[in-house]
Amino acid sequence: MAEFDLIERIRRRAGVRDDVVLGIGDDAALLQPPSGRQLVVAMDTLNDGVHFPRGTAPADIGWKALAVNLSDLAAMAAEPAWCTLSLSLPDADAGWLDGFLDGFLTLADAHRVALVGGDTTRGPLSVCVTVHGLVAPGRALRRDAARVGDAVWVSGTLGDAAAALALLEGGAPVPAALRARLDRPVPRVALGAALAGQANACIDVSDGLLADLGHVCDASGVGIRLHRDALPASAGLRAAVDGEALARCQASGGDDYELAFTAPAARDDAIRAAAAAAGVAVTRIGDVVAGERVRAFDADGAEWQPPARGYAHFHRDA
Ligand code: ADP
Ligand code: MG
Repeated sequence: MAEFDLIERIRRRAGVRDDVVLGIGDDAALLQPPSGRQLVVAMDTLNDGVHFPRGTAPADIGWKALAVNLSDLAAMAAEPAWCTLSLSLPDADAGWLDGFLDGFLTLADAHRVALVGGDTTRGPLSVCVTVHGLVAPGRALRRDAARVGDAVWVSGTLGDAAAALALLEGGAPVPAALRARLDRPVPRVALGAALAGQANACIDVSDGLLADLGHVCDASGVGIRLHRDALPASAGLRAAVDGEALARCQASGGDDYELAFTAPAARDDAIRAAAAAAGVAVTRIGDVVAGERVRAFDADGAEWQPPARGYAHFHRDA
């Protein structure tokens, strides 16, 4: 199958939107942004064996490639609109492409995102997506807006994806619920939108909670105190790991794609209401303080330092 046939296969299935003046097929797409809104642009690449385990199902790769990008828009409180897709494929495999599109376009349709262009080349398996979203001026949530006295919150639960990867790499069976968090992250788009005007700073948790909140501290010129025992965990994670390993997955594991955000402590009720309206659980996990980094504390007040242990040691049977 030639490059043109692959592109035609993509074009036939790509969604439509009224504001796409010209989509796949010309040298570039023509888009009509609504007046009075800012364009929000993000790009993320997924490489085989780095951002997803080798052998991941094509539909899961497709889903995740878009999901991680939508997560960046969610963290900015942007409404997704359009995307482009650069595919580097070892062979022109129509079956693989169809599976990939199943996952990619299911998520695109759910968020009314139109695939308007891209690039298709031969090379090692790699998927790069650019998403374009819209936000009203001044409404975007940024990393540099945390203030001393804010409460720190996180959506959903943390650590499932990291535990799944650790189990996989250790050769252990991976519970389906944990594997799903690794392969099919759910971008918190509705929550991000609901937090606009309520939260101060926001970031999506892709590299691990401590690392990502560290970016908020750097950008905002503040410190953060976290309560280790407050970090939310799924039942599946609690069943798979415990103790230090559990906390390490939650605090330092990657691929969560939850939103971590700060908001004035007086707005706790408004934050809970916004989260309830978005259908996502949120947990208050700490406070913004004067300082410059993220520190985590146990219930007894002792500072907790995540141990420098590898993922392979996380499983309690290891
Ligand atoms: P050019 O050589 O002019 O860059 P291409 O042959 O790369 O054109 O692309 C032809 C059309 O197909 C363009 O509209 C491009 O955006 C689209 N396209 C190519 N690859 C993809 C892809 N992976 N996903 C979506 N659209 C694609
Ligand atoms: Mg091209």
